Amino acid sequence: MLACTCCSPAAELSSAETTSSASVFEPRASAESAFSAPVSSVGVSSAGATFVETPSAEPFSDTAEPDEIRVFLSADEVRSGEAIVLRMEGYDGELSRLRVYYSKTSSRKYPLFAGNGFAFAIVPVNSTASGLGALTVADTETGETLFSRKVTLLPRSYERQDLTVAPGSSMETSGSSQNLDSDKAVIRQVTSSSAQKLLFSGSFVMPVSGRISTQYGQRRYTNGKYTSAHSGYDIAAAEGTPVVAAGSGTVVYSGELKFYGKTVIIDHGLGIYSYYNHMSETVVGDNQPIETGQPIGEVGSTGYSTGPHLHFNVSVGGTNVDPELFMSGDSIYQQLERMISQ
Ligand SMILES: [Zn+2]
Repeated sequence: MLACTCCSPAAELSSAETTSSASVFEPRASAESAFSAPVSSVGVSSAGATFVETPSAEPFSDTAEPDEIRVFLSADEVRSGEAIVLRMEGYDGELSRLRVYYSKTSSRKYPLFAGNGFAFAIVPVNSTASGLGALTVADTETGETLFSRKVTLLPRSYERQDLTVAPGSSMETSGSSQNLDSDKAVIRQVTSSSAQKLLFSGSFVMPVSGRISTQYGQRRYTNGKYTSAHSGYDIAAAEGTPVVAAGSGTVVYSGELKFYGKTVIIDHGLGIYSYYNHMSETVVGDNQPIETGQPIGEVGSTGYSTGPHLHFNVSVGGTNVDPELFMSGDSIYQQLERMISQ
């Protein structure tokens, strides 16, 4: 079995700088204004005291009262590994004070970004979330809740995967918690200041051609003991197979980590990063702009790995999401296009 025990390489974003920018999201020229998917709206007074359901027939009309905050969600239900896009209109305070969170996922909270006359956030739900939750926008300085709405978590099951690692082997050594902690410190540092606008458009591509040997969210047991939920895809491929960028962005790390081996990390903007681990070579440099499909390295088995494969994962605001969310169906890009282009 070709696998790694990569569990959560994504580091939590340390801070959320928000800057005003009219070009946060630049829709494709051919894109239709497609606001057809389910969108719900809730009017909330700026004092946060009154919750008023409002009709959602024309959710993006400009009829809001100046002192009224209106919030729209891309969906009222979500599966673990996916994300909700939130759009907020009518808030004229400091965005950097606000955080959004989904109460059943973790203690992680996510920033709002400035759009053209509105604010928005991408709220990911990790693979171990369970139960019913609410999407909440809160002011971190006053503790005030500006908005909260139930979002149903739909059931999703994940397979179990068993790994065997020989005690005392070099592999067990590379998988030590010290090595993992050391790597996480590096990752936290290089992912602390994502671009404040989207650096990609359309769908991501698979970074290497090969078979997915471990899926996102698969429950990983090492020597019979539960270790982690898998943070992304393991893609089995021959040593030396080219690895390409799944989406365009900027390289924020290219080098060798102790646990994750030779690694490239790409910033796609708005707190979205992709990770490529265990490679035999990396062929890009730090701060290099990168296009979708551009070669970044070769498949290998460096770091804590049982054989040649690429570990690939995508994080949003420090939470690992299903890479599928960027590749097909109602992708993040499509959700953003629907919710924040105008
Ligand atoms: Zn892996």
